[in-house]
Amino acid sequence: MDLPWVESLIQAKFYVTCQCGWKDSTYYCIQYLDLPFCEVCKTNKHSGHNVLQVCLSSEAEEESKETEKESQSEL
Ligand SMILES: [Zn+2]
Ligand SMILES: [Zn+2]
Repeated sequence: MDLPWVESLIQAKFYVTCQCGWKDSTYYCIQYLDLPFCEVCKTNKHSGHNVLQVCLSSEAEEESKETEKESQSEL
């Protein structure tokens, strides 16, 4: 079984701010094979598509929260 989207998925960067600027990108559309996107874009643009959600461990989530705090204090 050939899964051409797997390579794109591996190369895609998740948990960066979505193009829309609202939330972090935790979804990936395997129909369009475009950039990862957030849940807002999933609802608005990818309704009914084959969308994957990326799940990181709780440890990684804590790490991303700390990064958020740091970026906020810089502002
Ligand atoms: Zn978005
Ligand atoms: Zn889509």
